[in-house]
Amino acid sequence: ATPAATMVGTTIGARNGVLLKGGDVLERAKDVDTVVFDKTGTLTAGEMELTDVVATGEVPDGGAVAERGDAAATDDATATAEDEILRLAASAERGSEHPLARAIVDGAEARGLDLGEPESFENVPGHGVRATVDGDEVLVGNRKLLRDAGIDPSPAADAMERLEREGKTAMLVARVPAGADDGELLGVVADADTVKPSAKDAVSQLRERGVDVMMITGDNERTARAVAEQVGIDPENVRAGVLPEDKSDAVEAIQSDGRRAMMVGDGVNDAPALAVAYVGTAIGSGTDVAIEAADVTLMRDDPLDVVKAIRVSDATLRKIK
Ligand code: ADP
Ligand code: MG
Repeated sequence: ATPAATMVGTTIGARNGVLLKGGDVLERAKDVDTVVFDKTGTLTAGEMELTDVVATGEVPDGGAVAERGDAAATDDATATAEDEILRLAASAERGSEHPLARAIVDGAEARGLDLGEPESFENVPGHGVRATVDGDEVLVGNRKLLRDAGIDPSPAADAMERLEREGKTAMLVARVPAGADDGELLGVVADADTVKPSAKDAVSQLRERGVDVMMITGDNERTARAVAEQVGIDPENVRAGVLPEDKSDAVEAIQSDGRRAMMVGDGVNDAPALAVAYVGTAIGSGTDVAIEAADVTLMRDDPLDVVKAIRVSDATLRKIK
C-alpha cells in the first residue's frame, strides 16, 4: 500500500478500536484464511465464577455429623464436607493469580469460609497448584496434576465429566496429609465462565467471509467442545489441552499446510502464539506481554472487532488497486 493508503487504513482502524501496527499488518490481514481464537478471556469473558463443589472421596472432618444417621445429618455432613473441600482448595489457591483460582477464593469467601494462609505454594502452569495448608499438602488442578502426585483421580470421573459437559472447568482437590506417603482425593470444584455476547456473531461473520474458525485452549476437550458448540466452532477445529508453552507449536502446526492464521488471544500464555501467527491479535484488556507480541490490538473486548480488522485491511487495499 502507498503511505497515504496505510495512513487512511490505520486511521479508520483506530477510529474503530482496531490498532494495526503499520502497513505490513494492514496488507496481511486481508489474506488471513483462518482465525484461531484462544478460549478463556477471548471468546469467554474470563470472569470465572465458582459454581460447584462436589465431595467424591475421603470426607475431610464432618464425619461426626454423619454418625447421627438421620437425613438432616447426612445433608449437614455433605455440606460440611463440601465446605471443607472448598476451604482447603481456596486456601491453596490464594497464591495464584489465575482466573480459575480467583473464582475459587472469591466463592469460598462469599460462603463465609475462614481461609488458611498457605505455608508454601507452587504454581504448576497448565495443571494447577500445590500448597501446604494446615501442615498438609493440598493439590488443586487437573487429572495430570493428581496422577503426577500418584493420586488416582478416577473416583471423581463421573462428577468431572458431568461438569465438563456443562462447559465448566472442573478441578480436582486432593490432600497429602503431613508425614503420609499417599495422597487422598477429596472432591471436585468447578468454575464457569460466560461466552461473550458477540462471540457467536463474530464466528458466523468470519465463516461467511470464507474464513475457517478454530479454538485453542489449555482447558480439557469436553469443556472446550461445549464452549465451541455455543459459539458455532466445529468440534474438529478445537485444539484442547494445549500447554501454555505448546500454544505457539499448535499455531505453527495449523499453518504448516500454508494457512495464513490470525491468532487472537489475551494472556501472557498467548504471546508466543501471537508472535508466530501470520497475524497476531491481542484482544481488549489483554496483558502488556500479549499486546507487545501482537500485530493488531483490539481496544475493546469484542470478538466482532476481529472481523473489523480484516475488513479494514480488505477495504483499504481494494481501494488503491
Ligand atoms: P487456559 O489456556 O484456558 O487459560 P491454562 O493453560 O492456564 O488454561 O490451564 C489449563 C488447565 O490447568 C485448566 O483448565 C485447569 O484445569 C488447570 N489449572 C491451571 N491453573 C490452575 C489453578 N490455579 N488452579 C486449578 N487448576 C488450574
Ligand atoms: Mg486466555
